[in-house]
Amino acid sequence: MPFCDQICTYCDFCKMVTSDHTKKEYMKALIKELEYYSDLLSHIETIYIGGGTPSSLDDDLLDAFLEELKLMVDMKQIKEFTIEANPNDVTDNWIKTLKKHHITRVSMGVQSMSENILKFLGRTHTAQIVEDAIKTLKKSKLNFNLDFLYAIPGQTKEDLEKDLNYIKKFDPHHISYYSLILEDKTVLNYLINKHKVDDFSEDLARDFGEIIDDKLNGIGYKKYEFSNYCKPGFESKHNLIYWNLEEYLGVGLNASSQFNYVRMINPRKISVYLNDINDKSLTMHHLEDFNPQLETLLVGLRKTEGIDLEQYKKKFKIDVFKLYPQLKKYIDLDLLKIEGSRLMFTNEGVYLSNQVFVDII
Ligand code: SF4
Repeated sequence: MPFCDQICTYCDFCKMVTSDHTKKEYMKALIKELEYYSDLLSHIETIYIGGGTPSSLDDDLLDAFLEELKLMVDMKQIKEFTIEANPNDVTDNWIKTLKKHHITRVSMGVQSMSENILKFLGRTHTAQIVEDAIKTLKKSKLNFNLDFLYAIPGQTKEDLEKDLNYIKKFDPHHISYYSLILEDKTVLNYLINKHKVDDFSEDLARDFGEIIDDKLNGIGYKKYEFSNYCKPGFESKHNLIYWNLEEYLGVGLNASSQFNYVRMINPRKISVYLNDINDKSLTMHHLEDFNPQLETLLVGLRKTEGIDLEQYKKKFKIDVFKLYPQLKKYIDLDLLKIEGSRLMFTNEGVYLSNQVFVDII
């Protein structure tokens, strides 16, 4: 759902602020695309409605879409059904719509609890709005994830500690805690290039990352991926599909899919997407280069438990060290380690993982 009420200064996702008319056209197209794949829908186990900001859709439009989806998917087979939200949109009525359609999980973008940082990021919510949204989520008893960011220009250690204290108080089932990445073609990138804002130092970002790991570990969260933490048993089943390089079907603008060892991506321009759907010519025509042996390693090593070397060999009929002999060098350097049959990053290795990945690629 590529719609947002505002555009954040750091965002390079596929998103737009648009009219109700376009949203309605888009939702019709999305249903047509789903119908096109109806045979595949009987096999799915998780659903994730991401964005953009899916919660920015009017309740009626969301309700109508979910009603159609229910006709195509047997909700009894769905083990996890997540929708993303902005705190401003989390109301009792919205929750009622989610429950009516068997949505089990909400992923809410908080990013920070400091007002100056929220303004700097271009977010429209305040810390008070987040607190109200959390109350509503807790009342709903839905499982929920909170997204936070760190290494934001201007962010202090006190800001970080405040966020971590709020996390303790909010007690979410799951936390995604990403280091802010400077993307091309964003307002933030422009501000930094023009020296209007100072970039965040890499050393301080690493300190912040360590503080986050320690604090979250101390309050009962398990880190199971570079940027993801959960209470026991609350790993995101859907995201694990990506990290285990299993098959997924993405529908909608710029959505990507992967099955039969092929990676496909839908158009990024809405006019092209709508035309293609209406001409019945959207057949996932844009194929991306995809090397399953490499991708399994790259995404698998993002998980704290790494990859299973025996399974890897069984799947690809070749030993991973034969394909990527440079891995041995990183074991000698204590950046990677083997435990049982698994290969994983060491704590130190996680912080230098980009260099390891560049070498492997
Ligand atoms: S709400 Fe999310 S998708 Fe929309 S502009 Fe902000 S970060 Fe990007």
